[in-house]
Amino acid sequence: FFKASVFSAVAFWGYLTWKVYVETNPRNQKPQSELKDNGNKKKSIVILGSGWGAISFLSKLDTTKYNVTIVSPRNYFLFTPLLPSVPSGTIDARSICDAVRTIARATPGEVKYMEAEAIDIDPKAKSIQLEHNSQRFSIGDAFINNHEPIRTTIDYDYLVYAVGATVNTFGIPGIPENASFLKESNDATAVRQKLFNAIEAARLLPEGSSERARLMNFVVCGGSPTGVELAAEVKDFMDQDLKKFIPNIDKEMKVTLIEAMPNVLASFHPRLIQYTKNIFNEQGVDLRNNTMVKRVDDRNVYCSHRKPDGSQEEVTIPYGTLVWAGGNTQRPITKKLASKILEQKTARRGLLVDDYLKLDGDDYIFALGDCTFTTNPPTAQVAHQEGHFLAEYFNKLSQVDDYQYLAKKEPERAEKYSQKLERVKKSMLPFKYNHQGSLAYIGSDRAVADLSWGSWSTVALGGSLTFLFWRTAYVSMLLGIKSKILVVTDWLKVSIFGRDCSKDS
Ligand code: FAD
Repeated sequence: FFKASVFSAVAFWGYLTWKVYVETNPRNQKPQSELKDNGNKKKSIVILGSGWGAISFLSKLDTTKYNVTIVSPRNYFLFTPLLPSVPSGTIDARSICDAVRTIARATPGEVKYMEAEAIDIDPKAKSIQLEHNSQRFSIGDAFINNHEPIRTTIDYDYLVYAVGATVNTFGIPGIPENASFLKESNDATAVRQKLFNAIEAARLLPEGSSERARLMNFVVCGGSPTGVELAAEVKDFMDQDLKKFIPNIDKEMKVTLIEAMPNVLASFHPRLIQYTKNIFNEQGVDLRNNTMVKRVDDRNVYCSHRKPDGSQEEVTIPYGTLVWAGGNTQRPITKKLASKILEQKTARRGLLVDDYLKLDGDDYIFALGDCTFTTNPPTAQVAHQEGHFLAEYFNKLSQVDDYQYLAKKEPERAEKYSQKLERVKKSMLPFKYNHQGSLAYIGSDRAVADLSWGSWSTVALGGSLTFLFWRTAYVSMLLGIKSKILVVTDWLKVSIFGRDCSKDS
């Protein structure tokens, strides 16, 4: 046993050291060039976005076969499944961000990165207009710099479109002005700031006053895994850490979760839904199912609640901090692109693509992730699998292109090349999503997991062991060894010192 332990420890540290070395000392990359080694023209790929779809694509693409440029206003990849742990301080926002340049530098061929937003795409000219806005900024109320945005145009042979989606407020009045979102890392930091501001402001007011109670209500709208995890994390923060420094905060502070449907975590197994309800009940999270948000002002959420007998009642929920976790809608750039392609005229909820993720109506644009509308759900799991699929597809497409070129260049060997070409073409199978399950943290060191192996077996688990599984699964999914180490360190720090109670951390 002793020998086995020593061997495992040495193997683990050896593996870790090797991974750190590889990540911090990237190998030399093949520079971009006009021609491939065999003399064939190298095609260009422009990737729009730096999220799940784009980065999964980039990580599997043979970047020596194409001239690749990645364009995104966000110069890092964000591991969204752990974002709900940021406002409570369980995870530091930087721990779940991986720089695009680091990811791009780890590929075998040179990849260029441009920090810009695509503002227009011309599918006929195969060009994209980009805008970079960082030189136009203000500090506080004083306007400091009013430089015009920098604009440029970039051409592509193939466009990989992975710009994700934006928050859907369903046109509910007052949400954009009063609610926070939880989509980007700065959203999570803003939620933390608002939470602390509300608590500190409330503590100056007399105990028992309605205004104090309002400020002490942290309200989340949306019972998706994101909403549930955020409510659970904030409740943990109150109960496990903040109460040590602010006595009775766990009794005064309320966490309310509003959901329009009869259940939160609607896609999970009914047993896990019930388990989550029980845990929330135990923790004192105020779960408001069947409650539809109608309007929001700077103090209250106005809802309509469907009672068990089917009748409706109006409910007003005062809040100090409000987070809207209600769903996705298309970005303006996606709507603009769809309007230029006849076959996309009916694409209301996302771009329409075929089984190879090629845009309906355009042979050179491929789209993946949340910006598309398919039978698959808008999740990281789907975008990740699509990214890997598309990279494999493009690796094979390059081979197809090469065999066609070589058959022309060396007619005496055309027969051999055409046989190889057929073999590659046959191996280019359509995309098939393989659902591996869903996970959600529900508070008090417990999680739920709805797992599937193939189409025949599903397992519904809930509890503390599932929580360990949840953590292990997420660490294994984090992109780089740096983020894995940082996230594990964050968890370790919290278990030793508790969560940080300063506003800006
Ligand atoms: P994104 O990852 O959103 O990436 C879009 C990228 O495009 C970004 O880099 C953005 O900056 C860039 N971009 C935007 N506009 C432009 C433009 N005009 N030009 C160029 N680039 C642009 N899914 C799961 O499967 N499991 C989970 O546990 C889970 N938890 C989540 C928790 C939270 C808080 C959130 C917000 C989402 C969660 N999701 C989860 C969903 C998952 O994150 C998304 O489905 C996934 O990110 C979609 O990937 P994507 O590549 O389509 O878009």
